[in-house]
Amino acid sequence: MVDSTWLDDLPITQLKGVGEKVAEKLKRLNITSIADVLFHLPFRYEDRSNVVPICALAAGQSCLFEGRIELSEIVFRGRRSMLVRLSDDTGFITLRFFHFSNSQKQTMLRGKWLRCFGDVKSYSKAGGAEVVHPEYQFITEQQRGQVEEGLVAVYPVTKGLNQTSFRKLIKQAFVLLQQGALVRDCLPSSTLVKNQWPTLVESLFELHYPQRMPPPDVSELSAFKRLIYEELLANHLSLSQLKSGAKKNRAPRFDKGGKKHRLFLQALGFDLTGAQQRVIKEISTDIQTNAPMQRLLQGDVGSGKTVVAASAAITAIDSGYQVALMAPTELLAEQHLKNFQTWLQPLGITVEYLVGKHKGKVYRSITDDIREGKSDIVIGTQALFQDKVTFRKLGLVIIDEQHRFGVHQRLALRDKGVAGNLFPHQLVMTATPIPRTLALLGYADLDLSIIDELPPGRTPVTTSVIPLSKRAQVIERIQQGVKDGRQVYWVCTLIEESETLQCQAAEEATELLKSQLPEFNTGLVHGRMKAEEKQAVMQHFKDQTLHILVATTVIEVGVDVPNASLMVIENAERLGLAQLHQLRGRVGRGLRESHCVLLYKSPLSDNANERLSIMRETTDGFKIAEKDMQLRGPGELLGKRQAGFMRFKVADFIRDADMIEQVQHDAEDVLQNEPELVNSLIHRWLANSVEYAQI
Ligand code: ADP
Ligand code: MG
Repeated sequence: MVDSTWLDDLPITQLKGVGEKVAEKLKRLNITSIADVLFHLPFRYEDRSNVVPICALAAGQSCLFEGRIELSEIVFRGRRSMLVRLSDDTGFITLRFFHFSNSQKQTMLRGKWLRCFGDVKSYSKAGGAEVVHPEYQFITEQQRGQVEEGLVAVYPVTKGLNQTSFRKLIKQAFVLLQQGALVRDCLPSSTLVKNQWPTLVESLFELHYPQRMPPPDVSELSAFKRLIYEELLANHLSLSQLKSGAKKNRAPRFDKGGKKHRLFLQALGFDLTGAQQRVIKEISTDIQTNAPMQRLLQGDVGSGKTVVAASAAITAIDSGYQVALMAPTELLAEQHLKNFQTWLQPLGITVEYLVGKHKGKVYRSITDDIREGKSDIVIGTQALFQDKVTFRKLGLVIIDEQHRFGVHQRLALRDKGVAGNLFPHQLVMTATPIPRTLALLGYADLDLSIIDELPPGRTPVTTSVIPLSKRAQVIERIQQGVKDGRQVYWVCTLIEESETLQCQAAEEATELLKSQLPEFNTGLVHGRMKAEEKQAVMQHFKDQTLHILVATTVIEVGVDVPNASLMVIENAERLGLAQLHQLRGRVGRGLRESHCVLLYKSPLSDNANERLSIMRETTDGFKIAEKDMQLRGPGELLGKRQAGFMRFKVADFIRDADMIEQVQHDAEDVLQNEPELVNSLIHRWLANSVEYAQI
């Protein structure tokens, strides 16, 4: 018998009705212990306390109603279905079943009473409301109106496990609690007292069996709030464990930047900005210690992160280590390759390049060089973290445009450098500024460096928002611009996720511009072109042989043509803020005042309108990121792959943002005073998360 047993430790199979098969299914919902069942929370509630007269049923509502069977028939119009017509004293309603058994059909006898619950959806041709597949039970006429149920919780379910099964499991778990079983309350009681929050069992009970209909925003309930807090706390503790765990690892200690570093700076042809100098100092302090650096470098597009990366690379190479630089696209990797060749080869550093197109002999020779330590720095794409790539002495990993890569990829590349117990230093760079709250949680395992200053001589880009119907005027503007010696980007955006369509649109735009502006040279780059072709076109644009470059969103990252000072983005309303900001960052890199024209197709949704307005109002990447998070959520902001990292069970990044600082503060207390809670918390909320399991 159960008495003072921890439900956290009891396998779910101890409940009635849970055999191996059901347990398998529950596992898909991450339910393995009896306590897990209690944390499987409803996502909405149905009011079954009140029998609604049939005449008062309104389409679009889930309601409880009762009626006498007037007629039951099988019809073959469209799909074979069973129709059951009910009436109470006020009106008629039709129940429609597409799936039904013979015995079910036989029970639907005229004159019997049914109590039903379902979504009143549409009106059948015969008139009256219709409900498809309601829940129903037979009642006697005397039982009419005698409703026992009140509010009923509705649970996320999985194939083969329905609402009823869940309700039964949850009920069993609460019965065990009544009989003296326990479930671990992972919050310090001082926290509960301070916030006037209910205990864990009280909270769970209220959420599964509410007395009153909860508010539409369930986070207003303190029962729910404490769970949100718990999850955020668990998340934070886990990340800080990760961070302190990683700090215990050892890394190679690099020497202070020497002669090569000085020569590099001298040859640059410009002075570093104050922000670049500060960040370089932060990094060099890190890599001159023997704890692995884990640093996130944030800086707006064009803020000059590449120079910072190069400086760190030289320090590593000077100390006898190899460096890997990973970029998300070949175009970007190639651009880095060029920069690094220009900067580092004169210093006698060998720069290697490895991307997906390298095959066979070429691939082998490149990977041989890497393994034998003949290459000092390797620049490439995802190809860098294939199993076959091994380094002789990898000391520094640099990842550009981090938001494109998942945590896994970051760790995979890091692991390549693990030699004995030595871990490589890691520098992660992103041009997508991350709002502070998001950075606090999502990147708590990384230290943060920010370049908050653009190189001198840049003039902010002015942005205008113009409907597509005025395209002719925009083309005139391009004409004037090119006459004034400007170069122009014309960007075609993604059409319904289809790269082919996007390329088509770009081809059409190219034809249009060529025919309307025959006096200028117009080129085209798109994602379907081979890397060499793309590179050639980009080079023509850089050399100013091309005046106008039509591009799909492939130019989003990294392309650097300072003379381009006018950008037109077609269908700008389709893009998110982060992407618009990235694109716009391609202009405003030279000395001339730059313009960006956001062309949109009317009518604009409110959300799109808001996005385009923000773009017009500000060029501050951090402000844009803040707004982007509000409009689209953190998952989108961090990139799809990264989003898994942010998938909370009860918390919501935006809704609960104001709790995050408190959590961060309290986490310290818990670590200090109640360390025994840490593992329980992490286990409860994060045990099943792949990302955490792998770290
Ligand atoms: P991002 O941060 O977007 O990666 P880049 O590193 O590509 O930016 O730098 C953008 C451009 O600015 C490059 O042409 C780079 O050489 C130049 N640049 C970087 N730092 C400075 C500086 N301090 N002064 C002038 N130009 C700079
Ligand atoms: Mg860059």
